[in-house]
Amino acid sequence: MVFPSGANRAPLTVPRRNATWRKTGWLAGAGLMNPQTASRIGARWKQFPREARSFLKDAADLREAIYELFVARIDARKADPVATGIVNANLARSGRGVGLASLQRELKWQPSRRLAPQQLLKPVAWSAVTLLMGPRAQKVRQCDDERGCGWLFIDESRAQNRRWCSMGNCGNLAKSRRHYRRGLLK
Ligand SMILES: [Zn+2]
Repeated sequence: MVFPSGANRAPLTVPRRNATWRKTGWLAGAGLMNPQTASRIGARWKQFPREARSFLKDAADLREAIYELFVARIDARKADPVATGIVNANLARSGRGVGLASLQRELKWQPSRRLAPQQLLKPVAWSAVTLLMGPRAQKVRQCDDERGCGWLFIDESRAQNRRWCSMGNCGNLAKSRRHYRRGLLK
């Protein structure tokens, strides 16, 4: 999920299509709200499942649109206008609905009490666009995994040579495959 991050936050990753999104867990996980707010919204969505479904669809559409904009940039091609339209629609949504809350030394996004679910996605869209249009855009790369992982990340390595979304997953798999191939050649 693309989300505003302080300079030292973990690498940015965008979950791919079919990645499992738990109803509100990811919102808290992305730093979009505190766990209490997430559980309040979770409770509301149990009552109004249609609202939850419509929000999750909007969220998934935005995720795919952001993904498209970054991959188009990486591939140096024109982005799908549908994707641009989806991001723009989220940017245009009312400014009310989200604000900042300060938690110890950190600032976080916080939805206002009267929740309009679509407004929750506005900071996500802003964050993605700020990254896309700013100097760090060149550092966004796509995982080199041969199986087609496709995750995006920000390469914060000094040498700017990071290849995989995570060493724990794709990086290690690639290494062990290389080992295996070398073993076969012997
Ligand atoms: Zn990967």
